[in-house]
Amino acid sequence: MAFAAIHPEAGRIDATLPDLGRGLTWDQVHKTRPRVALRCPECGHGVHAKVSARKLRYFAHDPGRPADCTWLNESLEHHLLKLELATAIRAADWHAELEVRAPDGTWRADVLASSHDGAQLSPITDEDIQERTERYWAEGIGVCWVSPGGKAPWMGHVPSVRVREPRDHQPWTVVDGPAAFHYEHGTWIAIDDPELTDFVRWVLREQTIVHRVRPRYRRIWYPTSESYRRRNLIWTTSRHIDTETRHEALRQRQDERKRQAEQQRQAEAEARRQEEERQREAQRQEQERQRKIRAAEDAARWAEQRRTWEIEAEQARQRHEAEERQRQEQARAAEKERLRQEREEELTASRWWTGLSPVQVDQLRDAVAEPLWKREATRADFDPLGVTVDSAYGIAIYIRRRLHGILRPSPASLHRLPPVVPVYVRNAREAHELVSTGNIDPARVVHFDLPDHEQMSLM
Ligand SMILES: [Zn+2]
Repeated sequence: MAFAAIHPEAGRIDATLPDLGRGLTWDQVHKTRPRVALRCPECGHGVHAKVSARKLRYFAHDPGRPADCTWLNESLEHHLLKLELATAIRAADWHAELEVRAPDGTWRADVLASSHDGAQLSPITDEDIQERTERYWAEGIGVCWVSPGGKAPWMGHVPSVRVREPRDHQPWTVVDGPAAFHYEHGTWIAIDDPELTDFVRWVLREQTIVHRVRPRYRRIWYPTSESYRRRNLIWTTSRHIDTETRHEALRQRQDERKRQAEQQRQAEAEARRQEEERQREAQRQEQERQRKIRAAEDAARWAEQRRTWEIEAEQARQRHEAEERQRQEQARAAEKERLRQEREEELTASRWWTGLSPVQVDQLRDAVAEPLWKREATRADFDPLGVTVDSAYGIAIYIRRRLHGILRPSPASLHRLPPVVPVYVRNAREAHELVSTGNIDPARVVHFDLPDHEQMSLM
């Protein structure tokens, strides 16, 4: 069903207007003989005027209508709403057109409200709302989508209201869309069910305008359902928009104070951090100072230790030098003693041999050699060097190149004797003189019985 039709002579006619908008009466198109060739403004198919049981005037498609005509499948409720809107628009002294499409087909409106300055209100129910809204806006047509009830996902995303049909002697009312800002609560609150006629009048007079809610206020409080709903776009007055702006300024001041408080807190935290850092640094420096003190103490101890060691080493060196001096002195003394002893030996040997004539020496040599020759035919050889120190200031005797004995060693030099071999002296007195030194085994001493004084008789 539809409210508009194209009259073959008058052009577009509107069943909701008393003169059909073209100075005609309903009787001139309804049940005429012959029929007026009315056409659908949308699809061009033939339509005929009808009146419903509730005395509602409208146009219906003739049989064989195209299936895709937009106006075809709309409900009675939808049509009644369109009619109500047109009535409300006209009550506000605006011009209302129903079921209008753009000449080039880019847009179509169920109800098109227009004033002398061209402002327009176009309530409608449909999907693809956003795109169509933009298309209207591109044409400079103000838009308000109207939902007759139920779920409308686009509510609050495009300029829109939800309406409720008359009940309990109440006319059409707007139950979602208009809102007022409450400064004390800092929130938008939905206005409680204004009449649709009033709402349309407010909109057409621009007392109520579409408002894009500031982001932080998009949760709208609905007192009747005691719940919040999210809305980007609402209908309200410039006074409430100003209130929202004032509240936003308050919130921004609060935000700024919070931000400043946060900055202050961060500054304090930073100051604390720096103070802690300073204390840590001071502690670190103190530890470093202590460490240096300990290191200096250690170094001092080491220096003291080294000094002690150096002193001990110097003392040891001096001790060693003293010992060395003592040792050298002892060596010198020993050498001196040795020389003295040697000199003593020489003197003793000198005395030992002085006063002994060569004859007496020969007597002694013979006393050794003759018995050997006689008994064993063995010849004794006397050291051709004569008296030598190595023979203890005596004369070495050899038999067949082997040492046989020592002839008359000096009493002071017996320690120089070769071991074992016997020594030969002239008589018991000389033997006694050797043995009495205690430096020779008496068994080694062989003596003869030669006289101490040269026998003159033997000369
Ligand atoms: Zn049609």
